[in-house]
Amino acid sequence: MATPRISFEFFPPQTLDASFRLWETVQALAPMQPEFVSVTYGAGGTTRKLTHEAVTAIGKNYGLNVAAHLTCVDATRAETMEIAAAYADAGVTEIVALRGDAPKGAERFTAHPDGFASSVELIEALAATGKFKLRVGAYPEPHPDAADTLADVRWLKRKIDAGATSAITQFFFDADTFFRFRDLCVKEGITAPIIPGILPITSWAGAKKFALRCGSDVPARLDEAFTTAARDGREELYALAHCTQLCDNLLQGGVEDLHFYTLNRPHLTREVVRALGIQPELVPELVLEKVA
Ligand code: FAD
Repeated sequence: MATPRISFEFFPPQTLDASFRLWETVQALAPMQPEFVSVTYGAGGTTRKLTHEAVTAIGKNYGLNVAAHLTCVDATRAETMEIAAAYADAGVTEIVALRGDAPKGAERFTAHPDGFASSVELIEALAATGKFKLRVGAYPEPHPDAADTLADVRWLKRKIDAGATSAITQFFFDADTFFRFRDLCVKEGITAPIIPGILPITSWAGAKKFALRCGSDVPARLDEAFTTAARDGREELYALAHCTQLCDNLLQGGVEDLHFYTLNRPHLTREVVRALGIQPELVPELVLEKVA
């Protein structure tokens, strides 16, 4: 079994305290030699400036390949493309292109009157610039807006045909969930890599709440196991075992890339990655900008 290629997702900090946490996260995970790291874009575009700053700071100071997330929520086409142009000016060459969720207070996603109506439109426009490698989201358990699993896969095919070169999945708890989805993608003619999104579970309550909100299956045996582990004060140990086993199952099934949702909490992710046989390397000295 080959060593997997890995990547990490971070979110942009909104407070000084959170800035330190992001920095600690990057410092802990950069030595694990990720293929790329990505920085999320707050719901409704709420972290536009912060995402840009985090993306450029991580790229500049660590030399990591940083993919910036971008959604079409609450913005005109011109505004969205301006953000993309600013990324390009800052040396960003990868974008995770997303439709995004409903703006605050709304139940469903509604396009801005002058905005991109869907992720496919956004991907087409970004692809036309010729400046970015585009990644997109994918849903092993159907997205709440999908008519059914097949509709979801067919929509993913449209996103790939529009110019995306790979997809990163929502997290899931069982490797079989991913394999069923991957098989369906292949059957529908998708040849682009589908990278499983892995959530190292630092809080079972939080992971369960988010999964239920997404309409994902929460296996009863896992719920019981985490509840028992928490009662015995061993939740972290169980989380490490569960996540390592999930990754191992995926690798046994031919997966070559793993994308970790770090939630800016690096330690469990780092332990899992080490358990998979990836050792930290010394990173070149930080290229910190001189303080004037
Ligand atoms: P799409 O894939 O375009 O749509 C979701 C589903 O709805 C589709 O699978 C399809 O079944 C259906 N659908 C949508 N439009 C149509 C249509 N016109 N015709 C037919 N079916 C349609 N959110 C953020 O706000 N910021 C982030 O940084 C962020 N990062 C993410 C990263 C990853 C890897 C993933 C998987 C999700 C991320 N999200 C993020 C969440 C994402 O914005 C939500 O899941 C959103 O509801 C869907 O965005 P999408 O681009 O995946 O949508």
